Amino acid sequence: MGFRESRDGGAITGVVDAHTHIFSPEVVRGRDAFVGRDLWFEQLYADPRALLVTGEDLVRSMDKAGIDRAVVCGFPWHDPGICREHNDYLAEACGASGGRLVWLATVSPGEGAPAGAEVQRAVSLGASGVGELNADAQRFDLMRPANVGPVVDACVALDLPLMLHATEPVGHVYRGKGTATPDRLLAFLAAYPDLRVVAAHWGGGLPFYELMPEVAAVAARVTYDSAASTYLYRFPVFRTVIDLVGAERVMFGSDFPVLRQDRFLRRVLDLGLSEEDAAALLSGTAHRVYRIPPFPAGAAA
Ligand SMILES: [Zn+2]
Repeated sequence: MGFRESRDGGAITGVVDAHTHIFSPEVVRGRDAFVGRDLWFEQLYADPRALLVTGEDLVRSMDKAGIDRAVVCGFPWHDPGICREHNDYLAEACGASGGRLVWLATVSPGEGAPAGAEVQRAVSLGASGVGELNADAQRFDLMRPANVGPVVDACVALDLPLMLHATEPVGHVYRGKGTATPDRLLAFLAAYPDLRVVAAHWGGGLPFYELMPEVAAVAARVTYDSAASTYLYRFPVFRTVIDLVGAERVMFGSDFPVLRQDRFLRRVLDLGLSEEDAAALLSGTAHRVYRIPPFPAGAAA
């Protein structure tokens, strides 16, 4: 575990999957009840073939793939009560993982001040950030972000990264695509210049627009992840985005269980990236952005 050979023979240690999703056994076994309680969950998971996994399933997959640590998200529930329950599960599952799993709090930003308080509660339970939030699923407007203020204020006060679902303005339509396109992300970023943001799914293509100086200025504090990449892009996207923004702003993330960790990691290791870029992509950037602590004493690394 935790040691992979890159193609040029260099050792990549401490691989992090920076974007995964887990659910409590209650949701995994009782998905039908939750399908009736959340429109976005229904859209993604009414189909019984859409995988739902627990923290234990994730750790088994990590062991098989040679992944040391994972950043775990819940789900962007619209109902704040389900968000709280999910955070309780994430705290429990990640707390029991011997440091393998670090987690992001899920909150429903439209709730206002209580959502900010939930961020603080989650941090007291061990959360390393907030996300994956989703403007479509949770019905907030990235172009008019005032109602997200309490969540952003809590993130800024606690210096937490906020992971946002992002999507492409072009290309094929798929379940869960939504409308969080680079233009809307940019309006959000401009409204909150002190917030650290992780733009999932390659930022919906925002890295390309960073070739425009005014966009680069606003997006400089954004980090991108590769969640669900193979559903969206060909593998050269890794090299291309690293060339656009630098490997210190790019994180390997699978969106597991959307992508299989072992196969996806193997394909990335086979890209022939330099040892320095691979180390940042697969480990260093995520450690820095999410402040992933060293393994606790006595835990197997
Ligand atoms: Zn997403």
